[in-house]
Amino acid sequence: MPESASNLTARPLAPPFDSLVGQSTAAHFLTAVMQSNSPGHAYLFSGPLGSGKTEAARAFGRALLCDNGGTDDCDTCRRVAHATHPDFHVIAPAGVRGYVIEQIQEIISSAGMTPVRARRKVFLLTRADLLAGAAANALLKTLEEPPPDTVFILLARNRDAVLETIVSRCQVLPFRRIPEDEALATLSEKIGVSSEEARIALSATGGSLLYAEEFWRSRERRNLRVAMLEALERLSHADDASVLEAAKELVIKMKAPLDVVKREQELQLEQGRDFLSAGNLSRLEQQLRREFSGRERETIGEILEVTRSWIRDVMVTLMPTGTQRPVNVDFIANIQRTAERVQMPRCTRALAAVDEAARQIQYNVSLQLALEVMLFSIRTELFTIQDREM
Ligand SMILES: [Zn+2]
Repeated sequence: MPESASNLTARPLAPPFDSLVGQSTAAHFLTAVMQSNSPGHAYLFSGPLGSGKTEAARAFGRALLCDNGGTDDCDTCRRVAHATHPDFHVIAPAGVRGYVIEQIQEIISSAGMTPVRARRKVFLLTRADLLAGAAANALLKTLEEPPPDTVFILLARNRDAVLETIVSRCQVLPFRRIPEDEALATLSEKIGVSSEEARIALSATGGSLLYAEEFWRSRERRNLRVAMLEALERLSHADDASVLEAAKELVIKMKAPLDVVKREQELQLEQGRDFLSAGNLSRLEQQLRREFSGRERETIGEILEVTRSWIRDVMVTLMPTGTQRPVNVDFIANIQRTAERVQMPRCTRALAAVDEAARQIQYNVSLQLALEVMLFSIRTELFTIQDREM
């Protein structure tokens, strides 16, 4: 570990670490790693959702792969930032319960090869807490004797949830939760929106600054949020046929942001054909396919998160004034109307219906069916007139 923390924080930060919001210890640590000119083989970034781990990992990846240490904004820097550099591998668990052994075998095989364009290869594994069993064992061997010029960056929300054998082979870098005010101020300045709009973006993406920024920049994703909220708004007077229709429409509207991803991927493959060997090209294709299903999961997660935040807004409205404020201020009239007719336990059950939908989708129930069941449950809980109960 380079120098003591107090020495580290005295230095000014340079790109690409100067942009890491609220994480100056991590930023200084990574700057020192790069200045030492001999990065380690494996790092574990641990911290809650929204603490900026992914942003830091991308910045570190830039620094490791760019010839100028990520200080310029060259093609390499941009490709790493968009996770499209052939030596920057971003891997997320492919199985319902976590990483599958084939993924790790693929990592080991790519790690054994020479880099495609840069002087190193970087493997970024999200959710290292979902590494277990055969997949974890296979990775352990590689972490023990890593191929030269290879750096592993593992991400986890909680260091204690990662197998101790894996943690012990990594340099652990803790990230703290960025306070909401700081996150809101940063986001609204970065994308030029009001604090209320920044709150909407943060809430739709579960509190992650990076994802919130991407969310706000995507017109398609913002439209999908509005479509979800409109579907919830219409539930108060929807008959069964309209509920089914609403679920169907949401599934169709989800395609718009994913079509954008598809177009970006096609472009990436097009560029890949210019400089990748057949083997690397097919690996890129596989990687993109996985990335696409990841984006699909994210998009689904986003509409469920929007639904949760709308229900929470109703709950906030039920609480004594001043404790908290609703997030979805653009739907405030509807939220207030809904709050007038419900009681807290029913909201809690509506929230449980969203969690149940998430579980069903994870276990491969069709999205449309899961949304239908969820919308019916929310309608029952929030919009069916009940006798005095509870
Ligand atoms: Zn660069």
